[in-house]
Amino acid sequence: QKADSENLRSPICCIMGHVDAGKTKLLDCIRGTNVQENEAGGITQQIGATYFPAEILKDKTRELKPDAALKVPGLLIIDTPGHESFINLRSRGSGLCDIAILVVDIMDGLKPQTVESLKLLKMRKTPFIVALNKVDRLYGWKTCQNAPFVKAKNQQCKDVQNEFNKRLTEIIGNFKEQGWNSDLYYKIKNKDMGETISIVPTSAISGEGIPDMLLLLVKWCQKTMVDKLTYSEKLQCTVLEVKASEGDGTTIDVVLVNGVLHEGDQIVVCGMQGPIVTTIRALSTPHPMKELRVKGTYLHHKEIKAAQFIKIAAQDLKHAIAGTNIFVVGPDDDLEVIKKLTMGDKKTVMDRTDKTGKGICVQAPTLGSLEALLDFLKTPEVNIPVGGIGIGPVHKKDVMKARVMLEKKKKEYATILAFDVKVSPDAWELADKYGVRIFIADTIYSLIHQFKAYLNTHKE
Ligand code: GDP
Ligand code: MG
Repeated sequence: QKADSENLRSPICCIMGHVDAGKTKLLDCIRGTNVQENEAGGITQQIGATYFPAEILKDKTRELKPDAALKVPGLLIIDTPGHESFINLRSRGSGLCDIAILVVDIMDGLKPQTVESLKLLKMRKTPFIVALNKVDRLYGWKTCQNAPFVKAKNQQCKDVQNEFNKRLTEIIGNFKEQGWNSDLYYKIKNKDMGETISIVPTSAISGEGIPDMLLLLVKWCQKTMVDKLTYSEKLQCTVLEVKASEGDGTTIDVVLVNGVLHEGDQIVVCGMQGPIVTTIRALSTPHPMKELRVKGTYLHHKEIKAAQFIKIAAQDLKHAIAGTNIFVVGPDDDLEVIKKLTMGDKKTVMDRTDKTGKGICVQAPTLGSLEALLDFLKTPEVNIPVGGIGIGPVHKKDVMKARVMLEKKKKEYATILAFDVKVSPDAWELADKYGVRIFIADTIYSLIHQFKAYLNTHKE
């Protein structure tokens, strides 16, 4: 595949950050929609994605007079409920997103979730920018609807500017503590891009800095990712979520990174019990500038080209595993070969147990989250061996697996770390009976913390 800046697909961008930082609201602001206020409790419950066509990006960034021509056909932004689902955005072991926006609330600074996001971005080698959001909350801020940031800043009185500078300096200091250099994006020299985090101040309520954020994303992608973004016919398609939906039975939400999907294509999907061979019954996407979470906004397609966020309806998808890649069976393909390929990804992750066979058991809801948990456990600071791996809820059989460690005289390893999964009542009961520990949490940080604390008391 030759790099070709005239034949680019849309970059895939993920928006992450701590709860309430304003991720959904930022997207609402660009779309001119109101998803955030219609969410239950204002909290994002499922993954959403929005496609922003190039014309919209052009329009929104006009005031900045972009010098470089827009070469990408658009921008696909994925909004997630939290970093638990970000970590599911994977593709063959690395990040699925080409670039990310890490949203930080200027009034709050860095939070534990922000720090965990930073670590994930680093592990996945995903380039990112920081949206320093809620600048309108600075006391005395004068609204400059949708203005580029520098223009808005120049219209603020001295006190507001001082307050802004003070908070910015503090947050730059926080990033430094995490091992990252950062600065306002327009102060960073070209050669330092990527080394120093670009900070874009924004308001999701009044739109200041939004033009800057969009332009920076697009420019960065066009400048540094031509290879990666050159459109390829070879299908690359990852399952994000498996959903039981009324009428259609189960559907899967996928990101099509490269290639084309058609209605009627025979596909193979990685399933809990083995490969699932099925046929695409329907392909649908949200309207551009809308998203799937808004009811009644589906567009149906006979065929669809990357990059897009798509809902696939087909039979037998119930046991599909999120975070895996799907394959299309072509006329000349050997189905058995493709089945093997499809399951390969799962096998690679499930094979990541310690060679000695000694270690704790881990359990997570998806392949992506499992992989992220394993990555964290492997880091030198943590360094906890893993003896058993599972996807989905913890059942009795998983407790039996963990119990084996008691026989291997590794009492502390007779432990299950259950990340964002349920534990069945009889699994709890059995664990109690045999002295197997089960820790549950919905952040990796908390799981590891709990287990380390347990190890420490165990040593004494
Ligand atoms: P998310 O959890 O990161 O998706 O955050 P939301 O988009 O749900 O926003 C959380 C809350 O912060 C909501 O009440 C928003 O109205 C508010 N909010 C988000 N962005 C801004 C902003 O730029 N300025 C102000 N003043 N409030 C904001
Ligand atoms: Mg949200």
